Order: sequence, then structure tokens, then C-alpha cells
Amino acid sequence: MNTPRHSRPKGTLDFVPPVADELRHLEYVAARLSTRFGFREIVTPVFEHTDVFTKSSGDASDIVTKEMYSFKDRGERDLTLRPEGTPGVVRAVLENRLRIPVRLYYFGPYFRFGRPQKGRFREFRQYGVEAIGEASPYVDAEIVLLGDEFFRTLGISDCTTELNSIGCRACRPGYRKELVAFLYAHKDELCEDCRERMDRNPLRVFDCKNEGCREVVADAPKTAGHLCDDCADHYDGVKRALDRMKVSYGINDRLVRGLDYYNRTVFEYISSRLGAQDSLGGGGRYDYLVEDLGGPPTPSSGFALGIDRTMMAMPEKPPLPEGTQPPRESLAYVVWMGEEELKHAVELAAKLRAEGVATRVDFDAARPKRQFRSADAAGAACCVIVGPDELAKGVYSLKDLATGEQEEVPVNMIVPRVRALFR
Ligand SMILES: [Zn+2]
Ligand SMILES: [Zn+2]
Repeated sequence: MNTPRHSRPKGTLDFVPPVADELRHLEYVAARLSTRFGFREIVTPVFEHTDVFTKSSGDASDIVTKEMYSFKDRGERDLTLRPEGTPGVVRAVLENRLRIPVRLYYFGPYFRFGRPQKGRFREFRQYGVEAIGEASPYVDAEIVLLGDEFFRTLGISDCTTELNSIGCRACRPGYRKELVAFLYAHKDELCEDCRERMDRNPLRVFDCKNEGCREVVADAPKTAGHLCDDCADHYDGVKRALDRMKVSYGINDRLVRGLDYYNRTVFEYISSRLGAQDSLGGGGRYDYLVEDLGGPPTPSSGFALGIDRTMMAMPEKPPLPEGTQPPRESLAYVVWMGEEELKHAVELAAKLRAEGVATRVDFDAARPKRQFRSADAAGAACCVIVGPDELAKGVYSLKDLATGEQEEVPVNMIVPRVRALFR
């Protein structure tokens, strides 16, 4: 085979069979669990007007400043490939005047022009849920629980949850001031990126992977110590609710999450299965976002989980609980001898498919021997042979490709016999 002339763009993935089946499977598990918690699916465009993201992420956010795929279309409109799910969902809720509160989930591709590295892609898939219009700490806890169940269902048993509260409009400015003062005092020990972030978005310094920066922030003032009474109560409520739901979690008072619109509860799922301790996803409360996008004040909470990372963290054969396995398609091949039998083969294929049996016919190979080879290459479970002798007798020959055994089956018995062979 020749070397292909094209290669996929940097930071993207191909899902070839059977990996694409795994992806479908994850979507299936996500849909089932979400539905169980009262979330319904929403599908929004892959691109939005750019200001949907600039209004929501805040101009200071790194995603907006550096990582978005933004472009002008042929009508001179400013558009952006969605870098995350939440703003588009909120936009759609407002535009379609959905009754609030509303619980929605989504599953699809997202785009960020980041530096590709292990588990980080420029096109990546996310599974997200949004509870729009719900304020209770119990809602945050239920969302944490849902993500926790998702990873456990997929066999990622070492997944742990980290939790923090980053306050609200009332208490964050005071905290921010104190943090900026602290960072200025340690300016020389910070990396260039962090010195730049210090005024624009000082909380992001907590996300920096630089060793020197990590040492500095270890002693920095923490959000949890600066919460107003309402935020402190809400935070206690989330912890109590998680205890009642028997979700284990750890407190990480350096956790801030990358996006500007979060307030109060933030959380992240960590697994060591990606090599280093790394995040599989996370979320939090975003009580101001709906307002920022032109809606009424609407307390909201959600998560977004990295599907590509989840697939990397999954054990080889996840122990799937009853009812979450997608149906496995076994394949039957109809083998024909000559033009006359080909006509019959086409009818037989239609009949098998109508009965739910995945069926192929090799139309290109006139010789049965080549057709058998195609069946093997496609991983078929059996061949149904249509020859002149068979047609004269009113039977088909059914060949089990796993054992090589062959038997004659009356025409009207072929569907149940093929099915039995699949099992
Ligand atoms: Zn507060
Ligand atoms: Zn830094």
C-alpha cells in the first residue's frame, strides 16, 4: 500500500472501527445516566457567533485570548468553533425560551487551539450536563454524583473528586485584592505567563504547572478562607449533601477551574490512569452566565467531562453493568454462485436485514472463493450460500466461519438459524 498523501491535522484523532464503537458506547452510557437524573438531550451548532463565547468566558480568559478557532465566514460574520459547551447551551435555552428550571445534557466535539500533548487535543469530545435555574447545594452534589457514577460505570475505579468554593460577586473582589497583593510580593518567583495573568486573571496562577509558581501559590491566600456567609453556607451545604449521597471527595483549596464564569462550587475528577495525576473533567456553579448572555438572573450548575481522556483511562474491558451494553452486531455474508443466484441473494439480504441481521453481499467478486475471503476479512460470523443445488432443494447452506461447519437449512428456517449461530 502507498503512503497516504494526506495526514490528519495536528491535535485531532481518527476513530476507526472498532474504536468508534467504543465512542458510541460511552455516549450510550452518558445518555442513560443523564436520563436517570432527569436531564434531556440538547444538540446545538458546532459554531456560534463569537460573542457568545467572549461575553461568557470573560475577555481575560485564556481560551478567549489564545485558544479559539475564530473566523469570518463568506458573509463577513464573526464565528467561532465552540471551545466548550455551556455558553451555546445557555444561548439556545434563551433563544428557544425553554421553561426554566431545565436540565440538559450534550455529547459532541469541541475545539481549542492548544499545544497538543497526551490527553489534550485540538478537536476533543465532551459529555456535559447543565442544570439551569437550580440554586440548591444539593444540585451541585447531584451533578458531582452523576459524573462519579459515569466513571465508575466505565470501570475507572481510581477516580477521585476534588472540591472547592471560589465565592461570589460579593466576596471575590476582596479576596482577589489580597491575592494580587500576595502575587506582587512574589513577582520575581513567577513565570512570565503568570506575571501577565496577575492583573487580568490572578486566579489562573493556581492552574500553572510551573514548579516555581506552584511553590509560590502553596502559601497564597485561599478562596475558602474568604467566603461571605452565604457562600460559606452554600459550600457547607454541598459537602453535607455529598456525604448524604455517599460520594467521597477531597478538598482542594487551590482548585479554581479555567473558566471565568464559575462561582461558588467548583470540582474536578482526577485519575492516575492517564499517567500523571490528571483531570478527566469537572465543573461547577455559574450563577451569572445566563445574565451575561442577556437572560434573567438564573442560578445554574453543570459539568463537562473529557471523552477522549476517559477512553484513554478506561481499562481494556470495562465491566459493564446489565443494561448498559450496546447490542453487538454480528455479520452474515450471503454468498452467490452465478447471475441467477445473485438475484436471489439480493432478496435474501433484504429479508435478513428486515429481521435485524447485519448482512453483506460481495457484489464485486464473481467467484464464491473470493466472496468467502471477503467474508473472512470483514469478520463475518457466517456465510449463507445460495447455489443452484440449494435453490432446487429449497434450502440454503449455512457455514459457521468460526468452526468451518456447514449444514443445509430450509429456506423458511434461515433467520432463526443465523440468529442462533450469532449467540
Ligand atoms: Zn460570597
Ligand atoms: Zn506560572
